[in-house]
Amino acid sequence: MAESNESVCPYCGVGCGIRYDPDRGNAVGWKGPVNQKGELCPKGAAAWDVVEHEDRLTQPLVRVNGRLVEATWEEAFDVIEREFDQILAESGADSVFFFTSSGCTNEENYLLQKTARKLGTNNIDNCARLCHSSTVAAMGNRFGAGAMTNSLEDLMEADVFLVTGANPAEQHPVIFRSYVLPALKSGTKLIHVDPRENATTKGADIHLPVKPGFDIPLLNAMAAVIVEEGLVDEAFVAERTTGFDELREYLSDLDVDAEAARAGVEPDALREAARLYGEADRAAIFTGMGMSQHHCGTDNVHTLINLPLLTGNVGKAGTGVNPLRGQNNVQGAGDVGCLPNVLPGYRDVTDADERADVAEVWGFEPPATPGLTEVEGTHRFGDEIRAAYVFGENPAVTEPNANQVKSKFEELEFCVVHDVFLTETAEYADVVLPGSVWAEKSGTVTNTDRQVIRMRKNADPPGNARPDLDILREFAERVAGLDTPETPEAIFDELCAVAPIYAGMSYDGIGTGSQRWPFPEGATDGKAILHTDSFENGSKTAPLRVVEHVDPADPVEGDELVLTTGRVLQHFNSGALTRRSGVLMRMRGEDVLQIHPDDAADRDIEDGDRVRIENDRGTVTVAAEVTPAVRRGTVFTTFHYADPLVNKLTGDALDPTAKIPEYKHSAVRVTVH
Ligand code: SF4
Repeated sequence: MAESNESVCPYCGVGCGIRYDPDRGNAVGWKGPVNQKGELCPKGAAAWDVVEHEDRLTQPLVRVNGRLVEATWEEAFDVIEREFDQILAESGADSVFFFTSSGCTNEENYLLQKTARKLGTNNIDNCARLCHSSTVAAMGNRFGAGAMTNSLEDLMEADVFLVTGANPAEQHPVIFRSYVLPALKSGTKLIHVDPRENATTKGADIHLPVKPGFDIPLLNAMAAVIVEEGLVDEAFVAERTTGFDELREYLSDLDVDAEAARAGVEPDALREAARLYGEADRAAIFTGMGMSQHHCGTDNVHTLINLPLLTGNVGKAGTGVNPLRGQNNVQGAGDVGCLPNVLPGYRDVTDADERADVAEVWGFEPPATPGLTEVEGTHRFGDEIRAAYVFGENPAVTEPNANQVKSKFEELEFCVVHDVFLTETAEYADVVLPGSVWAEKSGTVTNTDRQVIRMRKNADPPGNARPDLDILREFAERVAGLDTPETPEAIFDELCAVAPIYAGMSYDGIGTGSQRWPFPEGATDGKAILHTDSFENGSKTAPLRVVEHVDPADPVEGDELVLTTGRVLQHFNSGALTRRSGVLMRMRGEDVLQIHPDDAADRDIEDGDRVRIENDRGTVTVAAEVTPAVRRGTVFTTFHYADPLVNKLTGDALDPTAKIPEYKHSAVRVTVH
């Protein structure tokens, strides 16, 4: 196979090398920088299914008399230009909102955020807002960088893995199979904190089935045991942290048994987990959305960060705090500035010097006022937000309180959806632009451990669909008068010129391997382990922090249960791609509600019964799976399907810092349908 066919899987943040073979119409793994043996999980192996799918959009669509009808590209862009011009002239740039795509390339995302800023708005966000924005906020605040502190390779040196609110065996399968499992085989211990027993739990030495929304009591109690039992790394704490006395005083007053009970776990198991973590020479944390998707998500992660700081598990191989990122380029979307408060390279929009630096490359100064986040933006559709550009995201399925999202999209005056299928969000579009899938584009993506990897075009988009970068370039020129570089490589070079963490990278340097940020200008390599001698913000020390528990925003009353949502191996996020895969639908064609046998018996529910899940926000029906794998009082289902649209039930209470919604704790009533 020619070298030029190497691309990257379009699904999770692992970043597996994958190539499309147009002659055979299939996708196979190549020996990439992460999947070094060419291994793929079922989603990656089935990624060919979306390339030549019969549902692919092949022609622009324009809404006429309430119906979407086929149009030429010229006609579609004429409508977009006219509507944007009018809205911008009447209401200014902050009346538009941009959803960028954490499933698309760095170059495409870079171009769209630059276009927004040329128009004069920072109203730009990506679905990192919905998954790890709280993790990034807490880690950025404490360490100066919100990304994985370590590389997958060095994490294999850990003596203990603490996996909190993540299920890598199903959500990051190649990381689990090729990095975690070999380490476990060599003797690394695994502690799993999760309300459910799932595939990851099967490899665990200790399982702490935490009550959703009660991570802070659990983590504080673990920290209290570490302090109480003399497991603090005194030298590290003295040299690399501040605030120890205050935290020690707070923890010494904690009743560990009571906190364990509040978190819903056995005190002895919690103590054992704390000892295992605290006594290890090298202990590494993997963290996921079970921690981050709460209205106290930032505080959850702040509490988690105390553990490595107390025990000296930062800045060396096999340690750290390692958020497992969701989509294949969710790390990159943030890196290139698709966030309302930062420019490429996480340069603060409110900092005049940073804006001036960026202006030197761009030829114009970006706006100084932070924009709206996703969810905040949607809430203001029909108010100050009059138009939206939705690139490769499906907020009608993924945002919480979906009935309200639907009515907000109906209130929006003008909506462009740029995607490859007629998604649920496209139903609200005034113009639909048919773009390209992974096999039809060139560019780069940045995976979960900060590796920038190249994608190479293997096939042409079908019909009159176009490469995403061509579409975004025309949008930039016609709506913002922005003249943009023509090739992905030239755009990447410009990104490197404005983002210091990418400054030393190049397409040639990446080749068929990867380059990892931070990779400053003049460096010969990226940095695998962060915070070795000082933290990324330049400080020698990071603060320890006292964090108090706050109750979930949606309290459970009477016989209500806690609904917590997540993903399964066979599907990805809104399911816009995986629901169209015949193979994956045969593997898992419908959603189920996992319910504990005691909760089921209380409600006369038997395995396989159709059940109604409802609260004040909505109602859905699914089949019940009666299983002790989910803790009593909690029920679990996914958000991959448009029917049932489970996000009708989730609430939109937002974390005050990161503005992430509380997907992991919704009070619901469950009855036989
Ligand atoms: Fe794709 Fe993730 Fe599976 Fe790798 S592990 S093949 S990146 S979905």
